Amino acid sequence: MDKSQQLFARAQLSIPGGVNSPVRAFKAVGGTPRFISKADGPYIWDVDGKQYIDYVQSWGPMVLGHNNDRIRNAVIDAAQSGLSFGAPTEAEVIMAEKVRELVPSMEMVRMVNSGTEATMSAIRLARGYTGRNKLVKFEGCYHGHADALLVKAGSGALTLGVPSSPGVPEDFARHTLTVEFNNLDSVKEIFAAHGDDIACIIVEPVAGNMNCIPPVEGFLEGLRAICDEYGSVLIFDEVMTGFRVSRGGAQERYKITPDLTCLGKVIGGGMPVGAFGGKREILTHIAPTGPIYQAGTLSGNPVAMAAGLAALEQLSDQGLYESIFANTETLANGFADIATRHGIPMSVNVAGSMFGLFFTDIGKVTNYQQAINCNTEQFKRFYHGMLDEGVYLAPASYEAGFVSKAHSSEIISQTLDAAERVLRSL
Ligand code: PMP
Repeated sequence: MDKSQQLFARAQLSIPGGVNSPVRAFKAVGGTPRFISKADGPYIWDVDGKQYIDYVQSWGPMVLGHNNDRIRNAVIDAAQSGLSFGAPTEAEVIMAEKVRELVPSMEMVRMVNSGTEATMSAIRLARGYTGRNKLVKFEGCYHGHADALLVKAGSGALTLGVPSSPGVPEDFARHTLTVEFNNLDSVKEIFAAHGDDIACIIVEPVAGNMNCIPPVEGFLEGLRAICDEYGSVLIFDEVMTGFRVSRGGAQERYKITPDLTCLGKVIGGGMPVGAFGGKREILTHIAPTGPIYQAGTLSGNPVAMAAGLAALEQLSDQGLYESIFANTETLANGFADIATRHGIPMSVNVAGSMFGLFFTDIGKVTNYQQAINCNTEQFKRFYHGMLDEGVYLAPASYEAGFVSKAHSSEIISQTLDAAERVLRSL
C-alpha cells in the first residue's frame, strides 16, 4: 500500500468519506485520491513523492500558479502582527478599493469566507431588497451548498447524483425555480408565470460546474433584459470566473453589467475568502446601514486579506491574461486534435483560462443535458491514464479545468505528449 492508500484508509475512519469536500474522494473516477504534500508553480506532489502537472489549481484560486512567492511572503508578514482582530483594518479598505477598481460594477463590496457564503448572502440581499421570495437558477450550475441553491446543482452534487440533497426541506427549495442554461425561452416562460415574485436570477456566466460551458451569443444580454423588465436583481456568480476569464471577470469579457456579483477563489489567493457586492443602492440595505442581516467573525481576516491583495496586485502584470489564454487554447485544441487523430470523439470548450473536455460526438456542448450524456467511462480511463503520466485533472467529468500563469508552453506541450500516449491507448 502506498502512503495515499494508507492515509485514505485512515481518513475514512474519522472523516466522512475520508475528505472534507466530496469531489476530492475520487468517487466519479474510482481509485484512491492522491494525498498532497506540497505544490509549486504548475506542479503538485503527492505524499509518495510523485509529481503532477496540476490543472485543478485548488479548484480555481491559483491563477498565478501554486506557492506564489509574493502571496506567501504577504501571508508571513501579516501573520507576524496577529491572526484575527474582529475589528476593522486598513487591509479591508484597500481590498474593497481594489475590487472596485478591477470589477467596476461592484460599487460596494463585503468580504466573507467562502463562495457559499457569498452566494447565500447575495440572495438574501436580493430577496430583502426586492421584497420577493423566488429565485431563478440554472440546471447544472453550482453556487455552493446553501439550502436554496442545492436544487439541480452541478459539481459534486451532480457527480454524486444528488441534485437535490436530503436535508433540504421541500419548503426551502420551493422558491427555487430551475431553468435550462443557454435557453432564454425557458427563462422567459418562468418569468411570465412568476415574474412578480422573482427576486433574482443567479447564474454562473460561464458554467464551470457541469464541465465548462460558455454562454451562447445573446444569453447573458437576455438575462439582463429580463431582469430589467421585471425589476429582478441579476446576480453573476463569478466565484470561479472572477479574475479568471478576464481580469474583470465574465462581466468584463462579455460586457454585461450585473446588479450583484459574487467572488471567491482567486480573490483569496489560496486562503478561504469570498466577497459579494454590486450596486451601492442595493448594498446599503445590508446591516448595519440597512435591515438585512449578514455578518462574520473572521470576515475580512487580516491574513486572508494580505494573501488576496498580493494576488490581485499581480493581475495587472502586462500580458498576463493574453499569455494564459493563448496557452489554454493550445492545450484544449491540442487535446481535441489528438483525440480526433485517434478516432475518439471529443469536443472542447474554452473561456479564458477555463477549459472543458467532453467525450462526445455531438459537437459543441451548450447545456446540462448534453454535458451529462457524455461518455463518462471513456473519461475515467483517460483520467487514470493521465494521472499515471503525471497530469492531475479534476477527478470528475463535470468540472472545468484551469490553466495558470505557471503553465508555460513547455508544460502545455508535455501535457499534450502525455495525452498523445493516453488517447492512443484508449
Ligand atoms: N459558486 C461557484 C460558481 C463555484 O464554483 C463554487 C465552488 N466551486 C461556489 C460558488 C462555492 O464556493 P465555496 O466552495 O468556496 O463555498
